Amino acid sequence: MKITSVQAIYPDYKHVPPSWRTHFWQIVVRIEADNGFVGYGYGGGGQASVQVVNLHFRELLLGKSLETIQDIEQLWDNLYFESLPYGRKGIAVMALSGVDLALWDLLAKSENVPVYQLIGPRSKGDVKCYATGPDVDWYSEQGFKAHKFPHRWHGESDYEIAVQRANTARETMGPDSLIMIDTYMSWNYEVTVEMARILNDYDIYWFEDVLTPDELEGQSRLREHVKPTLISGGEHEFTQYGFEQIASNNALDLWQPDITWCGGITAGLRILGIALDYNIPVVPHRGGEVWGLHLIVSSHCDSLAEVLPGVKGQAKDILWIGEPQVIDGHISPTEEPGFGVTPNPKLMRV
Ligand SMILES: [Mg+2]
Repeated sequence: MKITSVQAIYPDYKHVPPSWRTHFWQIVVRIEADNGFVGYGYGGGGQASVQVVNLHFRELLLGKSLETIQDIEQLWDNLYFESLPYGRKGIAVMALSGVDLALWDLLAKSENVPVYQLIGPRSKGDVKCYATGPDVDWYSEQGFKAHKFPHRWHGESDYEIAVQRANTARETMGPDSLIMIDTYMSWNYEVTVEMARILNDYDIYWFEDVLTPDELEGQSRLREHVKPTLISGGEHEFTQYGFEQIASNNALDLWQPDITWCGGITAGLRILGIALDYNIPVVPHRGGEVWGLHLIVSSHCDSLAEVLPGVKGQAKDILWIGEPQVIDGHISPTEEPGFGVTPNPKLMRV
């Protein structure tokens, strides 16, 4: 088949938290082929990456053949190379991610198989989910057995707050559950060492994004000081080239690439190849969404998927129709062709 149409759209979100996400949250990429099949992808970078796709990537994709995974890899390499002067990381690669996922969706639909089958033999059934967010009571009610709570550093009183939250999480979720903490780059080296000491009784599985992605050496040194808790991160790193740097610096115990930001399934598979060489576990960021989930079930990613249920009673945008639901703390991709989802027309403004 040949690519006949490429379009990126910034959805008309109603409930995005005010932050960089207001204008630069997730985009939808729609790619159509001359056989009538349509592929949908999900990328980051918002209004800016819509411009990257519609003004630059589109002209590089129109008329190109798509028959095999190798074709997707070649298209990926070409888009990466052509955007290199303004890209390599950040918005251009977030845009590339949306295109890559739309190409995987399109190829899988044309072969009438789910994307996970195109990736490789499926190695996992149901995947255990962990719930990220502040509403631990609600997550426990829903049957989750793993939970990650956010903790942002503001000052000294945050040591006590961290202990209280860890205690609540451990008591609510139970002794056998997984408990993790995401600091969103707000701790520093000393805070992380001290947190490891005072949270020792709560058996925290990982501390996520304790430093910024540029502080690889600091994260590498921390690994020894916080054991057995793992130093995790990677949602703000991009492509196999970025993860090669993490690997060669021994910076992280566990990698969390975001498949809709790091370069799609194509980059995800290349990152997994590096992880295998270095014996690093991989738990994709937001892995309970179909884009990460299809990769998880057909690769050596850990059998653990992040979902963000929000807070009980709070309104949410439902962008994708057809997403699999979490049942009893577990999730499994549907057997629909492609990723099995279509964008909600109510949120699509063209
Ligand atoms: Mg995070």
